[in-house]
Amino acid sequence: MSRFSSEQLEHEWKSLLLGVSPAILSQIQILIKQHANDMATHFYSYMLQDPVASQFLSHDQVKTRLHNSMQNWLTTIFSIAPEDDLKAVVALQVKVGEVHARIDLPVHIVLRGARGLKNRFHQLLSASDALDDAQRAQIFQLSFSIIDLAIEIMSQAYSGFHDRNARAEESYRLFSVAQNLVSEREKQRAALLDWENQIMFEYAIGHSGSALPALGTSEFGLWFRHKGAHAFQGAVETDEILESIKKVDQVLLEQFQTQAEPNQQDRVLQLRELHVHAKAIAFHLDNLFEQHNELEAGRDVLTRLLSRKYLPAVLNKEVQYARRSASVFGLAVIDIDYFKRVNDQYGHDAGDAVLQQVAAILNNSARGSDYVFRLGGEEFLIVLVDVKKDGALGMLQSLRQAIQNEVFRLPQGQTVRLSVSIGLAFYNGHPDYQQILHRADTGLYKAKESGRNQVVVVDMS
Ligand code: GH3
Ligand code: MG
Ligand code: MG
Repeated sequence: MSRFSSEQLEHEWKSLLLGVSPAILSQIQILIKQHANDMATHFYSYMLQDPVASQFLSHDQVKTRLHNSMQNWLTTIFSIAPEDDLKAVVALQVKVGEVHARIDLPVHIVLRGARGLKNRFHQLLSASDALDDAQRAQIFQLSFSIIDLAIEIMSQAYSGFHDRNARAEESYRLFSVAQNLVSEREKQRAALLDWENQIMFEYAIGHSGSALPALGTSEFGLWFRHKGAHAFQGAVETDEILESIKKVDQVLLEQFQTQAEPNQQDRVLQLRELHVHAKAIAFHLDNLFEQHNELEAGRDVLTRLLSRKYLPAVLNKEVQYARRSASVFGLAVIDIDYFKRVNDQYGHDAGDAVLQQVAAILNNSARGSDYVFRLGGEEFLIVLVDVKKDGALGMLQSLRQAIQNEVFRLPQGQTVRLSVSIGLAFYNGHPDYQQILHRADTGLYKAKESGRNQVVVVDMS
């Protein structure tokens, strides 16, 4: 997304200041000097009325600091003269916006703050009898515009920072699970087992309660709470494991403590319950690693192609790229002809084997920079980045030919021959990627209609 440059913003700010007389500017400065303290106080109490805002403000340090920095902010934004260098004041708004983003302050809270300040300033100004109506009107106009512009700059910085963060976070998440998945899994399994062994041992030699190692602060517990839960965010198993850790530490270990002299039978029961929890955690952990192996790495489990859920991200990225670089990408939707017959005649496993072989041919036909998806069932999609139209068409014709020539091998030793129908569309400047998807689908439909085993291009010219 393109944003206003700092120069443009400085220019906007300067034009605001040049729109009024120097006398009005100095009036505003006098007023702000007089009332900055009052406005900061008012701002704080107004914000506290909002339950969300008060979560961010209730800390004592915030309270004292905010009061000061609010006064400074007001003085700064209103003490600028048109001939001043506006770089610093714009940079300050950017910085504030980035801080808001870092703490994830909701935008409506910032807007509420601005509204509170404007209202208060309006009250104070209306009560002042040193000004006539025309002056008041000018002062309202300018001060409101300046506050709005400052907030606008903050919001731009906010969303820029937020986007960068979200991207970094997503790639970190994928990266962190994909990295050494196998060794991490073994390591954490062993760490969990270590903890269990240790607790059994400590318990056996007569330790109890707080002398027993807590699961949450064990090597496994720390890893899971800090990294695992983040990497496996959103999965049911993640919550199950967190719940189990809590239960073990807050309930089970607690019971161990409160019973001064547990009898042998109680001991066995308690240890058994502990063991059940540890086993459940290990089970969930295995599941998490299993799923993330394939799915979260973005791959379809059967064909190892990209799974559909990454399509929006990839298409948005390619639309942006094509717009920036005035290049074209192609989008091909590929559907196996009469695939149902394979299933019907040879069974579902045979169908699966065919899907895997088709996927391999698609992968081999595409360049390293292209994206090959399995959309679902026997339908695939290729994003051909940065192409010439006839080059892309040529590539898909060869692909179609390759599949027609292939002898597909089935698990029981039989063979089948197949064909595919393909719809191809090219990026035409529309910002919404749904549009090109729709056009490619139209091409596929036509290819099926006119006899299958062919490529139909929607928009060659
Ligand atoms: P058309 O030429 O019109 O595309 O005919 P078709 O038989 O290929 O199309 P249809 O949509 O009627 O059938 C698709 C079949 O694909 C139906 C479904 O049983 C099968 N299918 C979908 N997903 C899978 C899968 O993961 N494995 C297997 N083996 N079959 C699948
Ligand atoms: Mg089909
Ligand atoms: Mg189909």
